[in-house]
Amino acid sequence: MISFKTIIEKIKAYDTIIIHRHVHPDPDAYGSQLGLAQLIKDNFSKRVYCVGEQLDGLSWIGQMDVIDDVVYNDALVIVVDTANTARIDDARYVNGKELIKIDHHPNVEPYSELLYVDTTASSVSEIMCEFAFESELTISCESARLLYAGIIGDTNRFLYNNATPKTMSLVSRLRETVSFDNVAIHNMMMEKTLEQARLNGYVLQHLNIEANGALATVILTQDILKQFGVTNDQTESVVSLPGSIAGVKVWVIFVEKEDGTYRVNLRSKGPIVNGIAAQHDGGGHPLASGANAKDRQEVDVIISELTTLALEG
Ligand code: AMP
Repeated sequence: MISFKTIIEKIKAYDTIIIHRHVHPDPDAYGSQLGLAQLIKDNFSKRVYCVGEQLDGLSWIGQMDVIDDVVYNDALVIVVDTANTARIDDARYVNGKELIKIDHHPNVEPYSELLYVDTTASSVSEIMCEFAFESELTISCESARLLYAGIIGDTNRFLYNNATPKTMSLVSRLRETVSFDNVAIHNMMMEKTLEQARLNGYVLQHLNIEANGALATVILTQDILKQFGVTNDQTESVVSLPGSIAGVKVWVIFVEKEDGTYRVNLRSKGPIVNGIAAQHDGGGHPLASGANAKDRQEVDVIISELTTLALEG
């Protein structure tokens, strides 16, 4: 694994740096990508670009750049928050001169020799904070805002056990270093459309409770999404809901895609779910993973595997 010092040396060695992150981005993907870009812009004289899909729901964090293929010539590419190449947004990540991977997921695919992976970090935004402090970089209000958004995204505002004493200490240092409106960031993170709020109600009304109350499941079909006027990406706001129900240890939300396959959002308060995710075209963290099911039959298989897991756990 490379050191923060090596990352700084690589940044210094290039005029152009292009930052990628994973498909289906979340606040940590955006926050760490744009936060690193801001740190580089504030501390070095470089051309820095962030690429990937622009998501309306994340535009409050920032905007992606649209760049020509030619920009990759002689560029350094950094991929953040992405465990495997299949999940890197924008296939042009291979076109740069060198590639660095910076991540906090289990290192299932070490797709570059230049890699920095810390699975104890709550988020890649936390790694970026540590990187900034250890490298004695100037931290602007904007880079602090971006990194804070990423940290509270992946820890669900410090509710999950991935928010360690180190996370808290880095956040505390961030707030001592520079003033930014943390409450505004919390509000943006929690904001939902009326349609999403109504879908919350549907999810709670239609939860199936299995495994003696330890497993909660719900399937959101295309018909339901259309009925509520919610896009597939907007279903992200319901994923944490079942976790607040007493007795529920493991939960899963299946979201039917337009092609009839299902996106699978797996969450847990203890039993390890990323093994089951890995068996169904997915992966992720021990207690927060994602997967894909090709049809209703595979949905049923996943529910049955989770039932066994929840009963054991
Ligand atoms: P999500 O349910 O999309 O919020 O994803 C939860 C976690 O699992 C995130 O850290 C994702 O990066 C990871 N993840 C989601 N889908 C996949 C996948 N298909 N393969 C590998 N990791 C995934």
